[in-house]
Amino acid sequence: MISVLTSRIGKLLIPLLLLAAAGFAIANFSVLTEQWQSLLSNTLPIISLTIGLFLCIQFSRSRYILLLGLLITVALLSDSFQSLLTTLQYELLISAAMINGLLFSLTKDRNLLSIHGVLRVGFIGIQVAFFAYLSHQHSDALASLINTPLFTLPSDWQAYNKLPNTLLIITASVCLLHLLLSLVLNDSLQSIFFGCQLGILGMASGYQSDMMVPFLLSSCSLMVVLSVLMDSYHMAYRDELTGLPSRRALNQLMLSLGRHYTIAMMDIDHFKKFNDTHGHDVGDEVLRMVATKVGKVTGGGKPFRFGGEEFTVVFPGKSMDQVNDHLEELREVIDHYEMIARTAKRPKNDNSKDKDRHKAHRGKGRNTPPLSVAISIGLAERNTQLKKPEQVLKAADEALYRAKKGGRNRISR
Ligand code: GH3
Ligand code: MG
Ligand code: MG
Repeated sequence: MISVLTSRIGKLLIPLLLLAAAGFAIANFSVLTEQWQSLLSNTLPIISLTIGLFLCIQFSRSRYILLLGLLITVALLSDSFQSLLTTLQYELLISAAMINGLLFSLTKDRNLLSIHGVLRVGFIGIQVAFFAYLSHQHSDALASLINTPLFTLPSDWQAYNKLPNTLLIITASVCLLHLLLSLVLNDSLQSIFFGCQLGILGMASGYQSDMMVPFLLSSCSLMVVLSVLMDSYHMAYRDELTGLPSRRALNQLMLSLGRHYTIAMMDIDHFKKFNDTHGHDVGDEVLRMVATKVGKVTGGGKPFRFGGEEFTVVFPGKSMDQVNDHLEELREVIDHYEMIARTAKRPKNDNSKDKDRHKAHRGKGRNTPPLSVAISIGLAERNTQLKKPEQVLKAADEALYRAKKGGRNRISR
């Protein structure tokens, strides 16, 4: 439970640290010479935005592209082009930008040149036209609506906010919603949106500093850059189906193993029969269940999905004798686990009646006998004959073969 909470709060670390860094830079900027000030404020946003946009296009992260678009728009209108809008229009723009940010974050990444992308951009266009019309034709009514005083901020907070009460409530609620979504969905994209929305609020705060907009824009772009890079690292080194580190991550670890370690190779017994009898979806469920148990292996083991229905656990600094009991416990946990598959194979000549019956059989505990799953484990440790990790891995694989030959559901060396 605590580890789940720390991982979710950890996702907020990058945006909050980058915002804190921007805040620190804004507060201490005067120590630099004027040349440095103008160099940094001119180049930092451009460099970070270029890298951000490049990565987002490269990895087809359309939601981040739209977020960067919102940030650029708010930055330009808060800084260089402020005179283009009336105060009312500017305030409406900030609120609309943040609400759009929230909506975009809840969609899926789609190609911006596809119909979905065109619809999203069109959706923004319609809003711009609508607000332009409202602020021209009904500006007095609109102004009196949003300027209704609902509460008074403490006087020392006034310097940090120039939005009217109503819009402050809307924008603060959007930030809060992103924070909640980030914690509840455990989604790093939501935490980046949360950070960038705070950045937009900061740019709109009216706090008097020439560096406010360039530094906040740079820090928000860097959030996006880091998030895209971390997600692609995650994709390359994590197995999608099971969530365990992948074979690539195992290869990486094998480069840095010391002189003492043990490798366990494991393979699900008769796995093919789950696929053949109950369908591929049930096979996948079995894989995920075993992966969850393997992921909780004790004794300091590092778990990986080797491929197919095979898993590897590496125990750095441990001998075979030291890890045997931990693996025996893992084997027993899986052997004793009564798995109820949520999905079941659909008969080949499926008709609606069958479909109904099939539905009735779905779900835990409904007429579905538990599946009996077992694994075989092969063990090998580094010694004077097996010096390279590849040799130890091969020896563990040979031991696994012996475990299968010896009757399965057992550990062999
Ligand atoms: P043994 O006890 O000897 O290990 O028998 P087995 O049936 O487990 O071994 P076999 O190698 O014959 O079958 C492995 C099967 O695993 C074949 C392949 O279709 C299936 N498989 C591999 N990867 C996946 C996957 O990601 N999902 C599913 N559902 N099946 C997979
Ligand atoms: Mg196999
Ligand atoms: Mg197998």
